[in-house]
Amino acid sequence: MLLHRWVSFFPCRLWPLALLLLVPGISLAGGAEEGELRVVVIDPGHGGKDPGTHGRVAKEKDVVLSVGLKLGKLIEENFPKVKVVYTRKTDVFIELNRRAEIANEAKADLFISIHANSAPSHVRGAETFVMGLHTTKSNFEVAQRENAVITYESDYTRKYEGYDPHSPESFIIFSLIQNVFLNQSLEFASAVQRQFTDVLLRHDRGVKQAGFLVLYKSSMPSVLIELGFLTHRQEEKFLVSKEGQDKMARAIFTAFSDYKKVRDARAAAHKAREKAKAEEAAPSKPEPSKPAAKDGRRIEFRVQVATIRHPLGKGHRLRREFPRLLEEKDGPSYRYYSHRTASFDEAQRMLQQVQKTCPDAFLVVFEDGVRRK
Ligand SMILES: [Zn+2]
Repeated sequence: MLLHRWVSFFPCRLWPLALLLLVPGISLAGGAEEGELRVVVIDPGHGGKDPGTHGRVAKEKDVVLSVGLKLGKLIEENFPKVKVVYTRKTDVFIELNRRAEIANEAKADLFISIHANSAPSHVRGAETFVMGLHTTKSNFEVAQRENAVITYESDYTRKYEGYDPHSPESFIIFSLIQNVFLNQSLEFASAVQRQFTDVLLRHDRGVKQAGFLVLYKSSMPSVLIELGFLTHRQEEKFLVSKEGQDKMARAIFTAFSDYKKVRDARAAAHKAREKAKAEEAAPSKPEPSKPAAKDGRRIEFRVQVATIRHPLGKGHRLRREFPRLLEEKDGPSYRYYSHRTASFDEAQRMLQQVQKTCPDAFLVVFEDGVRRK
């Protein structure tokens, strides 16, 4: 019964995944190759008919929009080459699915969803979430509350593949879908929390994992930031003030800059490694005096120094004289080559040198590794 309900929660393409996740120890988390950070999506939560949570005066949708716009402006001013995409810039309602779609369509390199929290009035602090399975009840409750906004959408059970914000088991299986960008998401989330706590001295609630629908479908490193609790009197005062919003936006921006620096350096190093690998794999350039290789085939010249019936012993003179002596078995015989090169000029020079001690040495041509008759 339970399995049936889990499977019915998954879209067809995810059924194998649902079964895979039932096997203990299977994790889809890992690291994906990444490029430079060129496109960032800023996602101020809620909006329009969905106010989010609220304090005495502040509405979540207004606070997060203001911080999101300030963050975007800082990035645009300081990184003119980075494209900043907003899921909303005004007080409008955007469905959760659409937010991830906007990020995927923009081929974003980073997705930053901004929210504010609610709890009993003594609870305070900033926290940053990445997609994953919650480890505490309070993490679960934050995700459950943020996901519940889909009930503002018509036909949400169909659109979210049967996901029910009030059903713990559908929540758990969905939360296990850790995306391949977990490591990068954690890296950025940690940078954000560092700024909030070390620089702004906000109360640190840490980097956490929980199953957020808005992060589930985004195909890039993604975080959901909870700026603080609007239900905590001082935090509401701070978050509703211009100074507080400026500081929070600046903190996220600094985290963005730090993350971008590291990520771009990593992308450049990866690119350099790939280039070196490609150059190594490429055939060496033909030299002017080398016979033209037909159809781009690889030509190699070898200096043959001996053909004998039995393999040379370890201490043989030829082995001592030519430490890179190459042995080739040919039917009942063994051939020995002292040198190999793609350059005809070099091969001739080598041959002259070798003939001083092995007067019978001669050149052999190999085409794509096959000895020419
Ligand atoms: Zn929210």
